[in-house]
Amino acid sequence: MVVELISVGTELLLGNIVNTNANYLSKKCAELGFSLYFQITVGDNEERFCEVLKSSLLRSDIVILTGGLGPTQDDMTKEAVAKIFERRLVMDEPSKERISSYFSFLLKSNPDRIAMNLGLDSVTQNNWKQALKIEDSIVVDNDNGTAPGYILEADYMDKKKRVILLPGPPSEMVPMFEHHIFPYLNKLQNKVFVSKMVKICGIGESKAETQILDLIEAQTNPTIAPYAKSGEVHFRVTASADSEEEAQTMLEPVIHELFHRFDINIYTTEEEETLEQVVVKTLTSKKLTVTCAESCTGGLLTGRLVNVPGVSSVLKESFITYSNEAKIKYLGVKEDTLREFGAVSERTAAEMAVGAAERTGSDTAIAITGIAGPDGGTEEKPVGLVYISCYVKGEVTVRKFHMKGNREKIREQSVIYALDLLRRNVTKL
Ligand code: ATP
Ligand code: MG
Repeated sequence: MVVELISVGTELLLGNIVNTNANYLSKKCAELGFSLYFQITVGDNEERFCEVLKSSLLRSDIVILTGGLGPTQDDMTKEAVAKIFERRLVMDEPSKERISSYFSFLLKSNPDRIAMNLGLDSVTQNNWKQALKIEDSIVVDNDNGTAPGYILEADYMDKKKRVILLPGPPSEMVPMFEHHIFPYLNKLQNKVFVSKMVKICGIGESKAETQILDLIEAQTNPTIAPYAKSGEVHFRVTASADSEEEAQTMLEPVIHELFHRFDINIYTTEEEETLEQVVVKTLTSKKLTVTCAESCTGGLLTGRLVNVPGVSSVLKESFITYSNEAKIKYLGVKEDTLREFGAVSERTAAEMAVGAAERTGSDTAIAITGIAGPDGGTEEKPVGLVYISCYVKGEVTVRKFHMKGNREKIREQSVIYALDLLRRNVTKL
């Protein structure tokens, strides 16, 4: 099935709002196993809307529209769809009843505001427009607002098409999609889709892809789709089959092969699991504590760890030691080390981690020192030079990185590599 998305709204074109609806719906279409080749954004202009809808209908089986279903004059999605399919708009009695009870509820809960600002009559007059449905379409209840959604199954150029009209506000669109549209679309195909997200850290995107190029090129079912994230690479592996068990069975050898090729570089295959969750989980299962000593990241690493509920069983304290004095005072970094090698050096990073662990009695420690820029770089120590050290039960490992990007990016990547270094060293135990 080929599906296309059209987001309607001049605000989207002006950049006043971010198109989160398209983002959400694209993911859902992938989950449903639909092919999505085009995503269009068009303003609240009937002529241009009709032009794009007609072209979408020629290319696809299903078109999902969001926005422009509201009560105001610029909301014209439903009217335009009705015109293209030469259908009338007819009063839908259940929608009319729902709208009238919605407004009597609003009036009861906030009589002054309604009366002063809006005037109940004018609101209801405008809102009756939302009770009109495209003739012979399916009305989809909106549990979070007044504009219902619609499903229209109709021929266009002698081919069966499905047009789905959804309200613009995400707080209305998302629940409507979850509860009504997803099950409807899922029924159109008798296949079940199951996917796993293989998350990799420590290898760049192109290297990771090259390592499995043969698998990507030969893929049919299951499919392997790469997603690059800052400092990470994710591969979504999706199998379609007649049953969930069958799809799971088909996934297994592919996941197994990916583990064979990427080994410890894979930190999870769970869709929702983050790198910091894996770090905390691993530390917890091994009953180990951790202390962070952060220079250029200024607390970002600790912040990422504290994202994880239950981190208190492994993280007792952290240090932000930005200046040389702080590194000496709180971590016991030697003055000689700083003088001879500088704050951004392998030796300083190592002493920071050892000092953090020893001063807090922690089983593990992770330290970061680097040049995040934009100033402060030299030929010998350029912006992006970062040392990350990890102390685990008496042993210290230090890694040197040359990171690219602006200050924010360098700091963010430092955190990811630090989490990853800790994960690797602790997993080995
Ligand atoms: P309303 O009844 O609120 O008028 P509507 O279905 O007519 O709903 P629009 O008027 O197009 O929808 O948009 C209403 C609001 O919904 C926008 O101001 C915006 O906040 C949000 N919205 C619309 N489209 C999107 C989108 N694609 N992504 C995120 N938010 C959106
Ligand atoms: Mg509107």
